Amino acid sequence: MNKNLVFFNTLSNKKEKFDPININKVGMYVCGPTVYDFPHIGNARPLVIFDVLFRLLRSLYGKNKVTYVRNITDIDDKIIASSKKNKKSIKELTETITKSFHEDCRYLNCLNPTFEPKATEHIKEMINMVSNLLKNNYAYENGKHVYFSVSSFKNYGKLSNKNSEQLVAGSRVEISKYKRDPLDFVLWKPSDEKDPGWNSPWGRGRPGWHLECSVMSEKFLGKQFDIHGGGLDLVFPHHENEIAQSCCSNNNERFANYWLHNGFVTFDKEKMSKSIGNIVTINKLRKNINGQVIRLALLSAHYKQPLDWNEKLINESQNTLDKWYSQFDKIDTEELKDDALKPLQEDLNTPEYIAKLHSLFEEASKGNKLSKVKFLSACRQIGLLEEDKESWRNFKKSKVKVDEKFIKQKIQDRKEARKKGNYKLADTLRKELEDNGVIIEDKQDKTTWKYK
Ligand SMILES: [Zn+2]
Repeated sequence: MNKNLVFFNTLSNKKEKFDPININKVGMYVCGPTVYDFPHIGNARPLVIFDVLFRLLRSLYGKNKVTYVRNITDIDDKIIASSKKNKKSIKELTETITKSFHEDCRYLNCLNPTFEPKATEHIKEMINMVSNLLKNNYAYENGKHVYFSVSSFKNYGKLSNKNSEQLVAGSRVEISKYKRDPLDFVLWKPSDEKDPGWNSPWGRGRPGWHLECSVMSEKFLGKQFDIHGGGLDLVFPHHENEIAQSCCSNNNERFANYWLHNGFVTFDKEKMSKSIGNIVTINKLRKNINGQVIRLALLSAHYKQPLDWNEKLINESQNTLDKWYSQFDKIDTEELKDDALKPLQEDLNTPEYIAKLHSLFEEASKGNKLSKVKFLSACRQIGLLEEDKESWRNFKKSKVKVDEKFIKQKIQDRKEARKKGNYKLADTLRKELEDNGVIIEDKQDKTTWKYK
């Protein structure tokens, strides 16, 4: 298989050929959710995009030769605030959201990452990294806080391609009297008695958010690894800070070699935000739309481009899949040959890949078995059409509720059929109602009904 894989690397600001450190152990780290609130459609985008990349790397390098790490941030100021606001314990809150997040991942048909470490399980390692940074004068302690000193790291700003003044001007930098420089960021902060905290050489406290990714990527992928991914909003300060911490603590020039960032999701051309109230959470979508529709919609734009989430996009994806499911078959798919993967190898060009799926579908519709295998293999490469035809149909039916008039008419028709002894027709009518998500029950002379 041709492994000519090309990525747009945020670090170099250009397209580069992918050259893994070790072809037998390709590593990818993607920043996972902070489990303080239900994930929304903007969070779903990197989940699906990096899942497609994970599947592609597995196809190119071998299933067991790719390590995908995606963390869970289960200690953070947002979590503490949300727990107070919702009057839920931190444990209850983080467990509920983590469970819902995992259901979202299954709903979107994402493969499990190889490792899914939690921040709270790596506090000791985080304390060690802070101690190391302090020892080598990359950090300082002030008022029970430990800060990373940004001026001690010459490459700071390289990922976002900005100098210090531009970084300060363009972002909301946290103001603190304990900081020496506005760009310095917190590695360790004190915790109130009521808030979660761990004992450390600087008193009882908790880690700054950025630290966990430096620690956990090193644990599972090593000091230097291949790919680091996440949303565009993470470039600064989060990823910039990860690089600073890791390079300084490890005395290394490089951290991740290739940085991939996906664009934002807007909702009807507006920025999604809590204050506008236009946040679409994945768990709400689960009730009404099949996950494959969401998956296809999320892949319809190139990952670096912004994606506008609207009714038209969902309808188009629904119609496409309705059509594609006519070619569904429970067959063993084959490895994609020739240049079938080429659009994906070209910086994960999913729109071009989907255009190809449309032409493969046309071929498959002509009835040739080989074309059908080709089409289904190509769909399953990006995690589509893996669900049974039955469950695809049933999901749709259960969403469209037939009205009472229709139901009552069918019950009446069935009653008359039974009266005439036409039990075959009566059964067909009962089945028709069932197919429309309605269950009927005969009690003495009366027939009652309910939605499934
Ligand atoms: Zn991270």
